[in-house]
Amino acid sequence: MRVKRDDLIHPIVSGNKWRKLSALFNEGNPIPHIVSFGGGYSNHLHSLAFCCSALGIPLTAIVRGDYTNNPTPMLKDLQQWKVNIRFVSKVEYQQRATASYLAALSRQYPDAIVVPEGGSQASALAGVQQLLTELQKAPSIVVSPVASGATLAGIIRGLSSHQRALGIAVLKGQGYLESTVAQFLPSVVPAPWSINHRFHHGGYAKKPQPLIDLCEEMARDYNIPVEPVYSGKVFFAIKSLLAQEYFDEGEEIVILHTGGLQAQRV
Ligand SMILES: *Cc1c(COP(=O)(O)O)cnc(C)c1O
Repeated sequence: MRVKRDDLIHPIVSGNKWRKLSALFNEGNPIPHIVSFGGGYSNHLHSLAFCCSALGIPLTAIVRGDYTNNPTPMLKDLQQWKVNIRFVSKVEYQQRATASYLAALSRQYPDAIVVPEGGSQASALAGVQQLLTELQKAPSIVVSPVASGATLAGIIRGLSSHQRALGIAVLKGQGYLESTVAQFLPSVVPAPWSINHRFHHGGYAKKPQPLIDLCEEMARDYNIPVEPVYSGKVFFAIKSLLAQEYFDEGEEIVILHTGGLQAQRV
């Protein structure tokens, strides 16, 4: 079993968020302005804001909820990086992917590129797929967390028919998470894939004690820092699946550590 340490890609830019954004910045075309979305702890907004600041690209961040009086560490970084932060109500935030809301944003910011929540868009897959080329040995199974879906989709797209992908749902997504991932993929892909829904621990960002304990165990016994929102749930799942003998003998298992440690700061 191996862990692909994408948490080590960069000290500030979170692993899979850089993978998903890399195509945007590698196209080489000048970008006048970016608009994107996220919650108060968003790894995506944090990574995007760091990149925009480094490249001198103005960024407007549409943030779910009003943190004016109690900004999170993530939002304080955004302020320092001169991001234009717009706090919106949960009801408005729900509109973030609708055609009418996006049309209104384009009218308001005609020169802006709008990047969806999580950076999950079709162009994100190539950057994710790239990580597979960095593995020393071809995996038979790659395990990754799933939230907005483009990370798992990128992995699936990069695998061939004798390999498979296993997503661990980090939120209650039974019934729609599969189609969320599939929307990024061609209708037929060679590698089989599935999502396990048994390790979300009650929902997105829920942190029951056994999960906290597992995160501490990973740091103490394996020297791998994990956080409870994404990677902690994946390692928790791995531990249970190993105990259940889910994996075949001799399988080359690669676990993707997607990063995300910035969101733990208090
Ligand atoms: C956003 C994120 C994920 C989820 O990736 P999706 O492409 O949205 O499914 C996993 N891990 C970390 C650390 C993240 O920040």
